[in-house]
Amino acid sequence: MPDAIDAVDTPTPHRKPKPPRREIGGRPLKPATLMMGYGYDPVLSEGSLKAPIFLTSTFAFESAAAGKRHFEGITGLREGGAEGLVYSRFNGPNQEILEDRLAVWDGAEDALTFSSGMTAICILMMAYASQNDVIVHSGPLYAASEGFVAKVMSRFGVTYVDFAAGATRSEIDDVLARAKAQAAAQGGKVAMIYLESPANPTNALVDVEAVRDARDAALPGTPIAIDNTFLGPLWSRPLEHGADIVAYSLTKYVGGHSDLVAGSIAGAKRWMDPVRALRNTMGGIVDPNTAWMLLRSLETVELRMQRAGENAAKVCAFLRAHPKVEGLGYLGHIADPRQQDIYDRHCLGAGSTFSLFIKGGEAESFAFLDNLTIAKLAVSLGGTETLASHPASMTHLSVPQARKDLLGITDNLVRISVGIEDADDLIADFAQALEHV
Ligand SMILES: *Cc1c(COP(=O)(O)O)cnc(C)c1O
Repeated sequence: MPDAIDAVDTPTPHRKPKPPRREIGGRPLKPATLMMGYGYDPVLSEGSLKAPIFLTSTFAFESAAAGKRHFEGITGLREGGAEGLVYSRFNGPNQEILEDRLAVWDGAEDALTFSSGMTAICILMMAYASQNDVIVHSGPLYAASEGFVAKVMSRFGVTYVDFAAGATRSEIDDVLARAKAQAAAQGGKVAMIYLESPANPTNALVDVEAVRDARDAALPGTPIAIDNTFLGPLWSRPLEHGADIVAYSLTKYVGGHSDLVAGSIAGAKRWMDPVRALRNTMGGIVDPNTAWMLLRSLETVELRMQRAGENAAKVCAFLRAHPKVEGLGYLGHIADPRQQDIYDRHCLGAGSTFSLFIKGGEAESFAFLDNLTIAKLAVSLGGTETLASHPASMTHLSVPQARKDLLGITDNLVRISVGIEDADDLIADFAQALEHV
């Protein structure tokens, strides 16, 4: 091996160590175990048990030849990317440890982190779509994602075709055929199939396995990406069901404390590389401090999600039987057999974010929300604390009425994200708030 490469491979303080072990005696270690140490070696940072926060804009090269080799990787002249740290717009130790640990949860080869969920999603789409291409997406999407496709990508000649989240295989076949024809007419390709499941706020699930089969038949090689914010990483593992790229708003369950904004994508390295290249150009990587906070969050993500899921099941069992409740949009009580079938094949838990339909309309919903004492009146989800909001007048206020009707975003719909408080206290709070309705 040439000397220059030896120099690059020699561990020095503040350098990423070799990948640590992921199994003991052939037995793979579980993510919950790996979150405490995977990807970080204290020896490289003065013995500090926890990774320091690396506040630096740039990294000193060991030699000019090492610097050249890094840039060959960064610029794509050589496969495999940089072999060490170069400049903080590209990466840093905290971000690399975080990316290694996020990849573990999804069983992915590689992951990339971003300053927000939307930065992740926008850079992902821009990395794959060129002028005259078509993006196929399930609907509804998170409003900003839907807006990015319809209002921003369209300015660069990218059109879209969408389909309802619960679509069957034959409906998906039709949609892909339509998208293919549209792409051919425009002189482009179908750039990406982009999914979000469950859809917000209806909780309708996408049949990812059916999308994969339809893609394999009609559009082999077209990447399937999925926003897994609502059920991931614990309750849904879309890479095992045919998705190629999984996207997250880490702001929600992964961050889990309603104190940061960040995003990520994960998948095979070949799917990550074009996105990494665009992120290197544009920036948008998560900052070191937020990455450090996310490392702390990942140590408890399984505990928090399990507890929140158990709480939601108890709260929903109470709400379901309440005389002032018209119904629930909760994955633990699915009425539609097709949705139940998708759930059984794709999901490992019902999550802790659901829709509550109160008997009445906006006035009754507002009375309920205004009288909650434990649950906070705020948008977002996946935090330790329970949140409640009114989509029709808040997150989805700008959605035209016809589309609201189509999506079932009614005036009596209250959106709830259950946290990790005591379940009986939450039930008591919901009970007294319902008395005011
Ligand atoms: C919040 C959210 C996003 C956007 O994430 P940010 O971190 O707020 O940018 C995207 N998708 C879903 C499903 C979300 O809930």
